[in-house]
Amino acid sequence: MALVTSKDLLQQAQAEGFAVGAFNANNMECVKAVVEAAEEERAPVILQVSQGAIRYAGLEMATAMVKTMAAQASVPVVLHLDHGTSYEQNVQCLHAGFTSLMFDGSARPLEENIAVSAKICEMAHVVGIPVEAELGKIPLIEDFTNWDEVTEIRKRSHSEQVQWLRERAGAKVEELMADPAQAKSFVESTGVDSLAAAVGSIHGMWDDIWPLRRDRIEELRKATDRPLVCHGSSGVIRTRKEAEEKGIELRPEECTLEEAVKIGICKVNVATAISMVFLKGAKEAWDKKPNEKDLRKILLPGQQAAKELVRSYIRLFGASGKAGEGVSKIEKSEVKHAE
Ligand SMILES: [Zn+2]
Repeated sequence: MALVTSKDLLQQAQAEGFAVGAFNANNMECVKAVVEAAEEERAPVILQVSQGAIRYAGLEMATAMVKTMAAQASVPVVLHLDHGTSYEQNVQCLHAGFTSLMFDGSARPLEENIAVSAKICEMAHVVGIPVEAELGKIPLIEDFTNWDEVTEIRKRSHSEQVQWLRERAGAKVEELMADPAQAKSFVESTGVDSLAAAVGSIHGMWDDIWPLRRDRIEELRKATDRPLVCHGSSGVIRTRKEAEEKGIELRPEECTLEEAVKIGICKVNVATAISMVFLKGAKEAWDKKPNEKDLRKILLPGQQAAKELVRSYIRLFGASGKAGEGVSKIEKSEVKHAE
């Protein structure tokens, strides 16, 4: 089917208490992994093009991969811009056929974030394309440490890793969280369709061990009716059971990814975890056959590992089976210019 916009999809997710998984379109193998998992789960899915993917594959190539897969897919697929950097880039992506946009003005002064987000909304809404914007700031793990240190920290127990990260980054992450009162006025003054609000997560984490802030998600849900988006979800502890198994204690104001979806997160971005499991799958295949000369035989196990992780996230988000029910409603929102 053709690409669909994220607007009805996220509203459906909000109404029905599930979340749509958003995964990165970094190469053909990742795109196939995501769409195949979504099809087998009968789940709608978002393929997003990050700034890194634009640098790596080029905007045209990344866009073409997603469009080609979406045209063949039997489930709704959204082509989304991740962390758009400017008004101009959003215009380029709209022109290229994206069915969902994002502006990340979190590094700019609030007034500028509001002004640019509003301008992008005004432009995109003319042709029915929704816009996500960031409020607060979702930091990168590299803001707090470097990969050499991470390599050492990872040797500790999970609970010690969390304790270390709480001491290193906890206060800053809290300080950067989205303010609910600000969220209300931000949504009203910009007209954004969904909100990437900082709720305690960190981009680019090495393992799923870190909690989200339940209290902040609940406050944001009360402050605004817009679907909330969780970024940096690779690092978020997935379930209570996994937290117990890993010996990670959650504080009363914290929650798991599964719980966050139940209380109002409607779109969940997972990038790093998929990348890491892809590499692991490919490495294991190459370790087994170090003389292999056919790159496809090394990449395919990576793709399959990525597909299984995408599947497990789709199930965690409660999105399995949601493509069927939502399709007729979503088809109405198919955009006219996307072909
Ligand atoms: Zn992000």
